[in-house]
Amino acid sequence: MPRTRAPRERPERAAGTLVLEPGREKSLLRRHPWVFSGAVERADQPGDAGETVKLVASDGRFLAWGAFNPSSQIRARVWSFEEGRPPGPDLIREKIRGALALRRARLGAETDALRLLHGESDGLPGVIADRYAGTLVVQLLSAGAERWRSTLIEQLGELSGCERVYERSDAEARQLEGLPARDAWVSGAAGESLVEIREHGLRYAVDVAHGQKTGFYLDQRDNRARMGALSRDREVLNCFCYTGGFTLSALAGGARSVLSVDSSAAVLRAAQANAERNGLAAGAHWLQGDVFRVLRELNVEQRRFDLIVLDPPKFAPTPKDTERAARGYKDINLNALRLLRPGGLLMTFSCSGGVSPELFQKIVAGAAADAPASLLLRERRWAAPDHPVLVEFPEGEYLKGLLLERL
Ligand code: SAH
Repeated sequence: MPRTRAPRERPERAAGTLVLEPGREKSLLRRHPWVFSGAVERADQPGDAGETVKLVASDGRFLAWGAFNPSSQIRARVWSFEEGRPPGPDLIREKIRGALALRRARLGAETDALRLLHGESDGLPGVIADRYAGTLVVQLLSAGAERWRSTLIEQLGELSGCERVYERSDAEARQLEGLPARDAWVSGAAGESLVEIREHGLRYAVDVAHGQKTGFYLDQRDNRARMGALSRDREVLNCFCYTGGFTLSALAGGARSVLSVDSSAAVLRAAQANAERNGLAAGAHWLQGDVFRVLRELNVEQRRFDLIVLDPPKFAPTPKDTERAARGYKDINLNALRLLRPGGLLMTFSCSGGVSPELFQKIVAGAAADAPASLLLRERRWAAPDHPVLVEFPEGEYLKGLLLERL
């Protein structure tokens, strides 16, 4: 395929400039990729949302190339910190290649479903690309990503070798960036949105058009496998089970039984179908309900488990929701601990950007003190390696988990 820009994209224009307030260049010098509106002293001909701007310090010194967005609190997102590498098809191609090479180096044959691009953590702010077998799902969450949409999609399709591309740009983050939702097939045979993937020896159907996120929680891959390895002969409770990821891992790992809870009837149906697909339906029990309430009811019934997983949705997308989120995490962890037999394991997660790993551990320690339960911290858990974390962008480390043993 030729390396030319797709015709639909606007022609290159001379880049405008954002001049930062004195002292506000510090985070860019540490290579953090966001410039907040309050850090900008002056904008010279920045153009429309998504256009490339030169980011300069108050003394005129070059800092980075960014994508401008007048309607977001994040006024610019960095494409490149090098003056000689402005954004364009060549830079985009280089970054996609780098991201693919990183995955090749860090992942083996455990799956045919993985995150190829993880936005800022791969140097492409707002660009998410997940591969599900031969289908690529692309999610563009920033004005800059939208500006380079055709280049990104064309090059991702080519470099990943995927036959079909689905665009899933429907996330809430797009609203914050002032972008309309877009949810449709871009190329390849439209129609069937269910794709079968394989992960650590298990098979799942992923609905790329209607599933949550881009269809599957790829970030939990290795934690599912770890949990499976700990499941033998245990009575398991899997809270917030979605399409059965942890459930199937536990059953394949020899769990005696698994009770899986989710509030959505549709995901429970998909989870059951996944259990059947793998011949693991025996020993699986399903319960539709609100986990906050279900945990209380199970306590009233004096039920007990040997392994409990808590993998709730994001309670705190941003720091302003932290306090409410903390109460939510404490509640489910406290009530789960009361169901756990001595010697039992709790694998508990938070994917909230607004809750740091330190705070999460503190919340769980508070729940343990109230239960009361004495807990051994056996392991800290993180997202799988196709969700890389750059030291300069701690926001990339959103998923944290604790594997705890009740003494
Ligand atoms: N562990 C899963 C991913 C969990 S995603 C995996 O590995 O694939 C979070 C799930 O929680 C979603 O399926 C959502 O439907 C469900 N959910 C959200 N709020 C809930 C609540 N209050 N009670 C029960 N389920 C809830």
